[in-house]
Amino acid sequence: MTKIVHQLAKAMNGRVAGPGDADYANCIRIDNGRINRQPAAVALPLDAADIGAAIRFARDEGLKLTVRSGGHSATGYSLNEGGIVLDLRGLSDMSLDMVSNVLTLGMGSIWRDVYNYMRVSRTGLVPVAGGCLGVGAGGFLLGGGYSFVSRSYGLGIDNVEALTIVLADGSVKRVSRASTGDDADLFWAACGGGGGNFGVAVDVDIRTHRLAQSTVLAGQILFPFYRIEEILPVYNELAATCPAALAIYGFLGNQPDPRNGGAPALFLRFTPIFNGAFDEGMALLAPLFKLRPSNVSLYSMTLPEFEMMAGGSTSVSGRGAYIRSALMPPGAMTAKLAKVFKYHMSRMPGTDSFVVWTHAGGKIADVKPEETAYWHRKSLFMPEVKAIWDANRPQDARQVIEWAYDFFEDLAAHAEGAYLNYIDPLQRDWKRQYYGENLDRLVAVKRKVDPHDLFAFQQGLNSDFEPDGRKPLDLDPLSIT
Ligand SMILES: Cc1cc2nc3c(=O)[nH]c(=O)nc-3n(C[C@H](O)[C@H](O)[C@H](O)COP(=O)(O)OP(=O)(O)OC[C@H]3O[C@@H](n4cnc5c(N)ncnc54)[C@H](O)[C@@H]3O)c2cc1C
Repeated sequence: MTKIVHQLAKAMNGRVAGPGDADYANCIRIDNGRINRQPAAVALPLDAADIGAAIRFARDEGLKLTVRSGGHSATGYSLNEGGIVLDLRGLSDMSLDMVSNVLTLGMGSIWRDVYNYMRVSRTGLVPVAGGCLGVGAGGFLLGGGYSFVSRSYGLGIDNVEALTIVLADGSVKRVSRASTGDDADLFWAACGGGGGNFGVAVDVDIRTHRLAQSTVLAGQILFPFYRIEEILPVYNELAATCPAALAIYGFLGNQPDPRNGGAPALFLRFTPIFNGAFDEGMALLAPLFKLRPSNVSLYSMTLPEFEMMAGGSTSVSGRGAYIRSALMPPGAMTAKLAKVFKYHMSRMPGTDSFVVWTHAGGKIADVKPEETAYWHRKSLFMPEVKAIWDANRPQDARQVIEWAYDFFEDLAAHAEGAYLNYIDPLQRDWKRQYYGENLDRLVAVKRKVDPHDLFAFQQGLNSDFEPDGRKPLDLDPLSIT
């Protein structure tokens, strides 16, 4: 046992693990297999008091401190090299208030467990939660949170009623929609200003919802990729005019082609989710059916069933990955944009990478950009690229990363920002891209609650870091936490 592990263990009630321990190995293994970090200690707090003790220990010893919930930070900012990682997996209690329909969650919960909990509750209520089952409530809710039902019920943060947060001085704060003064500022900033910036969120109260009926219409509509210039403008119109109860996500990537013995082929795939009656949803999708898709598989299923079915499909799951995003206004999915998609997808190195986009708008856009810390309320599409390679072949990384980088640089002409929760150290002007005109207020709150920048990382709110974007790309920032 190292000295740091030993001393930190004396300060906390929860376990502390070091190199060689099973808990340590579990914590440093995160979704993105590219990330390899060796903190000095992994602390597994039992409660807010334990978190406060770890914070004071890190401050007194001059050690870095980062927080891990679901471990899906694209850049691995939940880990660090040589410091302390607070792994919140022990903070995963849940309770549902049957009168208010408010769900209280430990911030170490991952969405798979939340969906299971809600299923077992047999209430039919659903949280506004992540599409990927392994994503943690922590990072998701602090950075915004797009769900398949966000067009019906807003972003994850729009459903947060209150949260408990441990600040840099070790004190515990409860902030809520009803808070006033500095506490109201902290609530505003924490909900959308991003994980790792203001303190350690311990638990959260979120509103849950009863869907229009017990099942949704959900599934896939598939087109051959070569038809993208013909199909995308029709989708563009439908996405801008359909009711908020319908979301139609998009996907560009390889999947088995039945006409060619199951060999991978590029497809354009839409994933509709309709929060209403099946027949009504089918009628709304008629413009896509008229285009003669090559395959349609649509089901009437509960939302948790759909999440469980679709949840793994965009996962990185230990492969090497580089992720970046773009936010686009209504009307952006034109034939001109289709040409950009076509150009880059047809040059994709390997077969594992893909682009997937979220259909935003609806209730998300009902909130003013300055009302919450999440600025990009008016965007209708959020494409993200998951550029993927075999983590055991690091020699492939540069080619795949440069492909994705150039792709999204070309998309930038059609975009109006990027999504903080796909945080990317190669994104130029990242603070404005993520925070828009909320940046200055966020920086002011950060300076007030964390004046000595204890919660510091490469893309923290107090950081001056800026990638230079020159070729060949400097990839070092991808490895710095
Ligand atoms: C495969 C995949 C699918 C995704 N699907 C979606 C989706 O459907 N919708 C969507 O909006 N986003 C999605 N995301 C993005 C996701 O919301 C972010 O990556 C999010 O930050 C992950 O949270 P986490 O807790 O799993 O990650 P972590 O890596 O544990 O944390 C992410 C960041 O938040 C900080 N943090 C975590 N917990 C806390 C806490 N309790 N207090 C303070 N700081 C904290 C960490 O230090 C880190 O900086 C997806 C990402 C991936 C890789």
